[in-house]
Amino acid sequence: MARNRPGKSQRTTHRKNQTPRYLDALAANASGEIFELPGYAAVGMAGHRLVPLTSDTTVAMPYGSELMLLPDRIPLVFNIRKKTFQSLADNPYEPGQPIFPVAIFNSPGYVNAMVCAYEERPGAGFLPLFSYGAAGWGQGGFRSSVIQVDWERRQDLRLMPEDQVHDGVKRYRAAFPKNRLREHLEHCALVSGCPAAKNFFIGRCEAPLPSSRQCNARCLGCISLQNEPGISCCQERISFTPTPDEIREVATAHIEKVPDGVVSFGQGCEGDPLMVADVLRESIIDIRKQTANGTINLNSNASLPGQVERLFDSGLDSIRVSMNSVRESCYTAYFRPNGYTFDHVTESIRVAAKKGGHVALNYLNCPGVTDTPEEFESLCRFLSDHPVHLIQWRNLNYDPLRYVSIMKQADSQSESLGMDRVLSQLKKRFPALKHGYFNPPRQRF
Ligand code: SF4
Repeated sequence: MARNRPGKSQRTTHRKNQTPRYLDALAANASGEIFELPGYAAVGMAGHRLVPLTSDTTVAMPYGSELMLLPDRIPLVFNIRKKTFQSLADNPYEPGQPIFPVAIFNSPGYVNAMVCAYEERPGAGFLPLFSYGAAGWGQGGFRSSVIQVDWERRQDLRLMPEDQVHDGVKRYRAAFPKNRLREHLEHCALVSGCPAAKNFFIGRCEAPLPSSRQCNARCLGCISLQNEPGISCCQERISFTPTPDEIREVATAHIEKVPDGVVSFGQGCEGDPLMVADVLRESIIDIRKQTANGTINLNSNASLPGQVERLFDSGLDSIRVSMNSVRESCYTAYFRPNGYTFDHVTESIRVAAKKGGHVALNYLNCPGVTDTPEEFESLCRFLSDHPVHLIQWRNLNYDPLRYVSIMKQADSQSESLGMDRVLSQLKKRFPALKHGYFNPPRQRF
């Protein structure tokens, strides 16, 4: 598959008076077999807005992406002859055979422009914690409704040969036989297939430093702890807090092998690292005693500005702050903070920048909320008032229809502007602001 080059888009503008090159709608049968539905165009959804997908507004399915069947749901498609949207509970070519929507889970670096269009069947359960991008069939392959924001191949599994992972595992086992964090990462790399852990053992890019068992938020879509019946976690939380020494050993081993590498606290397999800020602080001081190389990064809910300040004073280089929305009402409805408020998060951003740190937003995207005029204008105000260097665009892993409904209860959500418009307007209004997916090394701050 041809990959996009930086600065160039695979999307092309549809010229006036040309028949749109609709993508065929995708559907799956009860056995999970995926097929196209000729005569029906695939549809993308953003809140109430439905848009037929075309070749011009989509890209070839990015490498590493996966197609998924949506259980208990009915596909929404565009009838090309009648020019109407309709729901198709049964296969129109095999009456009586139920069909299900097919969505795409896009690889890192690609932001969902639209989500898969569907309706729930009566009694439908929650969708598992993934993002559900819109996809269709055209030009001889699957195509995806996405915008590429990062071209780095940090999590491209083709660059992580298994033999190199195993070599790294053996090498670090011998070097740190008693280190529990090394042992935890071994499980992540060999059993869970975590690309961040594999990168540690290979010695490339960014290494993870999971450390916290607890969190002071209860995010609706937390992938490592769920109390909601019907939603299961896809990651197991770390069951211990490593010692500063264990963290230092792993971090410095990585930085020594990858001098411009990144080591990051705050992973999918933990709570929030600020819950163990004292351990982090000691380990950062120890790492910096041993090496001035590498970038020490914190991925966090940024709920404790005082601790954020202490960590930057100890040698932390950057922070990535997670937010689903810059509107307090929507943030609170999703993060359900316990013992802190949205103001603490914004204070952490100020403190980090005051200390000379690099600040990124981990901005959780769901078309229909993220691209509403209300959210976009709030984001522009937020960026004018707060020192943010980079937006790391992440697709929200949560049932999209239910998320939109919860966000509507929290605040108003008007007709979506379109994610492509949001991104292009942000680039115009904030030319110094960067956009990407991965945590940058400080050489690229
Ligand atoms: S901040 Fe992270 S660890 Fe805490 S509840 Fe949210 S997703 Fe889970």
